[in-house]
Order: sequence, then structure tokens, then C-alpha cells
Amino acid sequence: MIPFNVPPYVGTELEYVRDAVEKNRKICGDGPYTKMCQRWLEDKLHSEKMLLTTSGTTALEMAAMLCELEPGDEVILPSYTFSSTATAFLREGASLVFVDILPETKNIDPEAIEAAITERTKVVVPVHYAGVACDMDEILRIAGKYDLLVVEDAAQGVSSLYRGRHLGTIGDIGCFSFHETKNYSMGEGGAISVNNPRFRERADVIREKGTNRSNFLRGQVDKYTWVDEGSSFLPSDMNAAYLWGQLQSMEKIFANRMATWDYYDGALSSLCEKGRLELPIIPDGCSHNAHMYYVLLSDLEERTSFISFLKEKGVGSAFHYVPLHSAPAGQRFGRYNGEDNFTTATYERLVRLPLYYGMSDEDREAVVRAVYDYFGEGE
Ligand SMILES: *Cc1c(COP(=O)(O)O)cnc(C)c1O
Repeated sequence: MIPFNVPPYVGTELEYVRDAVEKNRKICGDGPYTKMCQRWLEDKLHSEKMLLTTSGTTALEMAAMLCELEPGDEVILPSYTFSSTATAFLREGASLVFVDILPETKNIDPEAIEAAITERTKVVVPVHYAGVACDMDEILRIAGKYDLLVVEDAAQGVSSLYRGRHLGTIGDIGCFSFHETKNYSMGEGGAISVNNPRFRERADVIREKGTNRSNFLRGQVDKYTWVDEGSSFLPSDMNAAYLWGQLQSMEKIFANRMATWDYYDGALSSLCEKGRLELPIIPDGCSHNAHMYYVLLSDLEERTSFISFLKEKGVGSAFHYVPLHSAPAGQRFGRYNGEDNFTTATYERLVRLPLYYGMSDEDREAVVRAVYDYFGEGE
């Protein structure tokens, strides 16, 4: 069986974890490896302030807290995304307003954002699906015009670029995931890039259980005390040590994933030309991180039979996302604004192929062969 995903492991990680445990004697949060990862990410992504978190979800939760929402304030997000994009803002009492995506990238449609804006709208959340950038120029223009905050869900977008800028560093706040299904991992973990200087100090406080511990450690105040709301959003330094190994090998992981992505894209192009399926589209100005390779079948029925055919051939694949606006909680906590031209259709048609660090040539060839077999076509 060719698995759909294998957690990324390059081989150096355990030595760093051992170092954290035996040499540093520091396994709680904000130890040496956490600081090294944060500084490394700040340099690499050109972020002014990066903080590791326990997950992409908690990075989004921190972002939502920083937005200081009042009950009834509205947050606009795509319906085609992971539940965390929504739950983070729901916890802050926001009303969720789901909108449609664009057919090319499956990213939030800027026109749908503008059409959904009311007097209560406070935040817009572009989700960079598959690590391919949203139309950030247009989203920033709209946010500027209506005075909205922009929280980027860049969970899938670590190391991707939009017009030369790293995803997650463009809006007021950016959120990343280092879950084992993402390109670079620490098991469970994430990071928040606090781009708007207005939020930088409060981000430290929220992450440190509402205390001014960071100011205290920097010698800026002489007492360490409870000053604001907060939680514990800092990961263990053991997890950060694993991530350090991954970051040191970022180029290698990137190149390996991209080779598989390019292979799929080239090998499947003739099926696309014959109109049997659709392949991802990468707009000008976007350089992506090979987070995901997907194909689009014609409808739900074909998607279902395609996935079971691949399974019979020993190939793991996956579909997602049940549109949030039609999920039970989405109906309870949110509303959909505008037409659903592409959200439900994408959910019904999209299938993700196996793509992970270290995938062998034989395995990716077997995946392509299985796809051709499904359509009864020779390569
Ligand atoms: C993975 C993911 C998250 C959540 O990240 P975790 O680290 O799993 O909590 C949020 N949003 C999107 C779009 C994701 O893909």
C-alpha cells in the first residue's frame, strides 16, 4: 500500500531531541531550540516576530484573541477550509460568515469578501490552500478600504511566496502549522507571525498565560505578574528540537516534494488535455511549496469510484473539505453569504494524491499508473 501521507523525518531530528533532554536539560517551552527555530523562521521568512505554538489551530486562536472581537463581530472566511479556521474565531464570540472560493486556486474569492462586508465585519481570513497564495493585493486593498484586520491561515503555506513575500508575513498576523501532515513538522505544532507591530507585545502575554513574563525576562519590568487574558500556547522544547532538524533540511524537503509534484503534473498532463480530469493551476506571482497534489474528477460519483479504484490498486488518497457552511456546526454557528458556485463542487470533485518527503520513484510511478488505469488509458 502506498500511504497517503508519511510524517517527514530526515534523520537528524532525534539527535537534537536528545540534546534538548540530556544536554540542555530544558524540555518545557521557550528553551534554546524554540528560540533557535523562531529566529531561523524570522530570518528565512522575513518576519518581524515569530512565536512557536502548540499547533496551527492554537496559532489561529492566538490570532483571534489578538483581534479583540466583541460578540457579534463578523469574520469572513472561506467555507472550503479546515474547521480550525472557524473554531479559532468562534471561541472569541465572532459570527462566522462563509464565502465562496475561486475555481483556479480554491482560495477565497475577493469579490465574495467585498460582497459580504457589513458594519460588523472586523476580520478577513485568507486561507492559502495547498500552499498557493490567495490574491493578497486585492484582499489587502479591500481590508484597507473597510478597515479590516487580515489574519492569514498559512497552515499549508510555510516557505511559499506571493510576489516575493512569504505567506503569513503579508497580513496583520500569519498562522502556520507543523503538524505531521504538513511539509515541515514537529508532530503537533505551529507558529504565529505577528506582523502588525500593534500586536507584538500582547502576543507574548497571551502566549505566556496572560503574564508579562517575556518583559520580565528581558528586564523591562521588575515584577512578573498576571496582566491580561491568555493561555499556554508554547510547545515543549523537545518538539522544537525535532522541528529544528526539519528546518535545517528545509531545502532538501522542499526539493524532494517539488520533484514529486512536478512529476505528477507532467505525467498527468495528457489526461488533462483530453479532458478526463483537471490539475492544479498556479497563478503568476505565486511560488508554491508543493504541499499538495490534487486532481479534480467530473462529479461526486466519479470521485467516489476513483478513490475506491486507487485503494484497490494499493494507493491511498483523500478528499476534503466538507464545506463548513453545510457541516452541522457551520449551520449552527455561521452563515453563508453569496452563491456557492465552487465550494461544494470542489468538495465533491477533488482528490489528493500521496505526496510526502522521501516518496520513492517507483511509488509515484505506481500512483500515476493507477490513475491512467482508472481512465482505461495508456500513459
Ligand atoms: C492543518 C491546518 C490547520 C490546523 O493546523 P494544526 O497544526 O493541525 O492545528 C488550520 N488550517 C488549515 C488550512 C490547515 O491545513
